[in-house]
Amino acid sequence: MKNLILLGILTLFVLSTNAQRPNIVLIISDDHSYQTISAYGSKFMQTPNIDRIAKNGVRFDKAYVTNSICGPSRAVILTGKYSHKNGFKDNANSSFDGSQNTFIKELTNTGYQTAWIGKWHLQTNPQGFSYWQVLPGQGSYFNPDFLLMNGERKQVEGYVADVVEDAAEKWLNERDTSQPFCLVIGHKNTHRTWMPDIKDLRMFNQTTIPLPANFYDSYETRAAAAVQDMTIDKTMRMGYDLKMFENKEEESKELSIKRMTSTQRQAYMAFYDSVNLDLKSKNLSGKALIEWKYQRYMQDYLATAASLDRNIGRTLDYLDKHQLSNNTIVIYVSDQGFYMGEHGWFDKRFMYEESFRTPMVMRYPGVIKSGTINDQMVMNLDLGPTLLDAAGIKVPSDMQGKSFLPLVKGTFKKGRNAMYYHYYENGEHAVSPHFGISTGRYKLIRFYTRVSGWELFDLEKDPSEMTNIYGQKGFEKITANLKKQLAELIDQYEDLEASTIMKAGN
Ligand code: CA
Repeated sequence: MKNLILLGILTLFVLSTNAQRPNIVLIISDDHSYQTISAYGSKFMQTPNIDRIAKNGVRFDKAYVTNSICGPSRAVILTGKYSHKNGFKDNANSSFDGSQNTFIKELTNTGYQTAWIGKWHLQTNPQGFSYWQVLPGQGSYFNPDFLLMNGERKQVEGYVADVVEDAAEKWLNERDTSQPFCLVIGHKNTHRTWMPDIKDLRMFNQTTIPLPANFYDSYETRAAAAVQDMTIDKTMRMGYDLKMFENKEEESKELSIKRMTSTQRQAYMAFYDSVNLDLKSKNLSGKALIEWKYQRYMQDYLATAASLDRNIGRTLDYLDKHQLSNNTIVIYVSDQGFYMGEHGWFDKRFMYEESFRTPMVMRYPGVIKSGTINDQMVMNLDLGPTLLDAAGIKVPSDMQGKSFLPLVKGTFKKGRNAMYYHYYENGEHAVSPHFGISTGRYKLIRFYTRVSGWELFDLEKDPSEMTNIYGQKGFEKITANLKKQLAELIDQYEDLEASTIMKAGN
């Protein structure tokens, strides 16, 4: 009898813990900058749905990535490990080893229904999910193909953010409701070539975007910044990027346009053709042309972000409508930040703030207070451990990230005191590989391979990172301390390549 009562209590306990295991929706966008999110005070546009998550939970003001580029960032999120540990170092030569452990596998193995729907970009097929449906490679903005679990490749008509959300809702409708779920929605927006939905084409067409103060950066004191190939002036293409085709023949060669239905293409090109006509009548050159390109880039980017935000709203509405909001963690994060013309750039990769930092907001009803603002340094590395922590699963000891739940619950006030970064790709956009440390106040970067040398920035006095003060008088002690801290982080994370470069000296 006594045993029976004990068993009863135990069963009740297990049932009640199970009932409390939160569902998880992790929304990962691509190249979406904090500069264009109204929760972060954007002067460019409103993002009411991302703001909804922040308002009902926490806005992270110091969320950063370990390697600012698409595939590697997703691999870091999945594994909770730096690129040198998970093996996916760059988009050019890496292929994700799906046999390794991920936070998803830990959730699937403990009874979660897990799914990844949308942009994946890790070369190999997903492993360890209950369900997946992913865009091949970068995916397409219009009528995207999907790779399915059964090996099929299926094209779905429509705009990518809409059809990814449709597929996510379909999976939610059909899931096994006796188990908690973890759904990852991978959005292609706002990746290059910033193709807005047809209904959003004119959304920002009349808006004049202010130029960033350092738009005409001359890159003095910064050798790697001087040799990059990611400027709006020289790198951004009139046809491919801005849809200003020379003629119908050039337009027809563009795969992203070619795959549209004739109705879509007609509506799409009616807009761009009229812009093109206007541009030709202006006969611009020099700075006037560069600034025209900047306006068009930003107008398309913002309109592409509008569709992203609207579909995030659909996800939140779905959770509300199905009474899931109270027991579901929602996290919105970009795979990295992006340049909105700062330093004259688009793209990412650098350890400079705009691409190193990423927007991240999270809500967790009953656990995180509405309107929380967190100013501690957290990284995409921490997402997996955080979600395992929330699900009551022990974080595997070889995951290098740390749960930030104690920071947002207020159990701990202070997070890490420095962040380690390592970027590897030495190809497209000509950004030199580099690694470095940021303490929030100072940032020390070591470039190697393409250019070789150190950069030091005082982020308080020079938040736009325009003046490299490495080697300047008066910073000897600060530099020595940062190098020591950097060496310690390299040892802690066991980055042998960086360790070898450090030991070789200058
Ligand atoms: Ca990206």
